[in-house]
Amino acid sequence: MNVLVINAGSSSLKYQLMNPETGDVAAKGLCERIGIDGRLTHKTSDKKVEMEIAMPTHGEAIQAVMDALLSEEHGVIKSVSEIDAVGHRVLHGGMKFSESCLINDEVLATIEECTPLGPLHIPANLLGIRACQDKMPGTPNVAVFDTAFHMTMPPKAYRYAIPTKYFEEDDVRRYGFHGTSHKYVALRTAELVGKKEFKMVNCHLGNGSSMAAILNGKCQDTTMGLTPLAGVPMGTRCGDIDGGVIQFLCNKYGYSVDECLNILNKKSGVLGISGVSSDFRDLEDGAKKGDEACQLALDKFAYEVAKYVGAYAAALNGIDVLTFTAGVGENGISNRAAICEYLGYLGIKIDPERNNVRGKEALISTDDSKVQVWVVPTNEELMIARDTAELVK
Ligand code: AMP
Repeated sequence: MNVLVINAGSSSLKYQLMNPETGDVAAKGLCERIGIDGRLTHKTSDKKVEMEIAMPTHGEAIQAVMDALLSEEHGVIKSVSEIDAVGHRVLHGGMKFSESCLINDEVLATIEECTPLGPLHIPANLLGIRACQDKMPGTPNVAVFDTAFHMTMPPKAYRYAIPTKYFEEDDVRRYGFHGTSHKYVALRTAELVGKKEFKMVNCHLGNGSSMAAILNGKCQDTTMGLTPLAGVPMGTRCGDIDGGVIQFLCNKYGYSVDECLNILNKKSGVLGISGVSSDFRDLEDGAKKGDEACQLALDKFAYEVAKYVGAYAAALNGIDVLTFTAGVGENGISNRAAICEYLGYLGIKIDPERNNVRGKEALISTDDSKVQVWVVPTNEELMIARDTAELVK
């Protein structure tokens, strides 16, 4: 079976053609500058091509993807019928979707109703879906929501302590994101530790970061909220912040709320503190050279992640497994060490030799650690492909 996985943004579209059973990727690539001019990068196991192709809309981008997949020189299929289904990453399923869903007109309309919750992403996701429906009539499409995994949270975790009216009338609550990644890591960790019933905290630490408290495979709490701004500090996002800061900055500098949120989303996080970069590798280089602001940004990040591990250990009444995934979680040896340094009181001990690993599955805790600590590289595309295959079967 072949599933085409699509992640459509407003001016870009990523794709992978993969086998959902084996995870083998036949081809993958990226359309960029949609609506501006258009560029396609397409890779197979032995070829990489880059092309300028006019992409006034997502329709032309999907056509370019299909032409690349079918091409005599760098294609991997002979007919569109070899694509059994398309799986779409959708940012927000609101209160409406607690699992992945085969797309029909009603589902499409319901996703559209979620637009106020993801005003930048959902219209782009919809453009990707509609372009596939248009260019591949008859091929089933599945929506996989970034929020769905978190819909098992109990009300005490997902409700904000604000007047109930805003929840009941406006769906204002904690949703959480990176759900497809958290779900993949939860399932894979169950395989790695050889059991289904255990308490874990997953740290998805990348440019965007979120953590999830997971009991027997089901999410109990997560750090992001109504939007992906909340939780631990990230590359450019501030993470949790006192709402009064927004009022203070707006009053002092005459910012509109949107301008202030732009600062909190794009100029804050470790970039804001360091004044140097949102990339953790740059911060490590800076800190090694004695830049105190870079060191503070790294310290702040590790401290806040460790605080949430403690909070979730309290929420779950203990933890059995701690997992690290995504760019920083998979590769940041010193970041993992700095986080675990705080967690000795939970019986967490990591082995420096075992922790000396990047981008592959590894147990990094000592044999006598009370909590197993694992690096589990995420694979959101595979999770999307599997959910898609499951639904179209
Ligand atoms: P992601 O958003 O999951 O793609 O993660 C991207 C982030 O991973 C980048 O911003 C880097 O800061 C981080 N990263 C990648 N490689 C390393 C590394 N070797 N050490 C620390 N951080 C890394």
